[in-house]
Amino acid sequence: MIEEQIRGRGLDEPRLIEAMGAVPRHRFIPEAYRAQAYEDCAVSLDLGQTVSQPYIVGLMTRLLGVNELDRILEIGTGSGYQTAILARLARSVYTVERLSVLGQRARETLESLGYDDIHYRIGDGHGGWPEEAPFDGIIVTAAPSVLPEALFRQLKSGGRMVIPIGEELYTVTRSGDEAVKVHHGGVRFVPMVEDGA
Ligand code: SAH
Repeated sequence: MIEEQIRGRGLDEPRLIEAMGAVPRHRFIPEAYRAQAYEDCAVSLDLGQTVSQPYIVGLMTRLLGVNELDRILEIGTGSGYQTAILARLARSVYTVERLSVLGQRARETLESLGYDDIHYRIGDGHGGWPEEAPFDGIIVTAAPSVLPEALFRQLKSGGRMVIPIGEELYTVTRSGDEAVKVHHGGVRFVPMVEDGA
């Protein structure tokens, strides 16, 4: 997986390679689909959700540009696989998932692997985690149709968000109150559900 899908496609930053090499992806995938864990595709997590293809996890992590002292907010815990990669690169990770079954399962997996600087919340990620804001970086792994304003406001000035909007991947860097948006190509994510809607 690392040689062909990550390094082979140009994601060669040593800290990213180390993190992706160290996280056992199969542990995050339900047994029924585990044979596909290291394949070049998204894998089902049940409940209609999927863990992204390894390359997309690597790409989004690289675009986020995580430093050792960063506090990162993640929306869409899912399996916890992306959370684990972030936890190896950042100081702490705050992760929000709306489906309690998935959030709980992810927490058990991450705790059994010894990750202890992760904070978990079940709820609608559109609101972010205001009590812990501002964050150095925010990563959203479900796709809203527009940029959620509350999340943008929880970024530090100079901080960066990586987010699929519809079927397009963006980085959004906060410069004061201004959002500097850069497009990074097409992607497919499950929708970011609006619980109030
Ligand atoms: N990053 C995950 C994959 C996430 S799939 C991994 O590595 O496994 C997208 C996840 O976003 C799903 O678990 C879905 O339930 C969750 N989600 C969708 N809408 C949400 C919302 N409004 N708030 C929080 N989580 C949401």
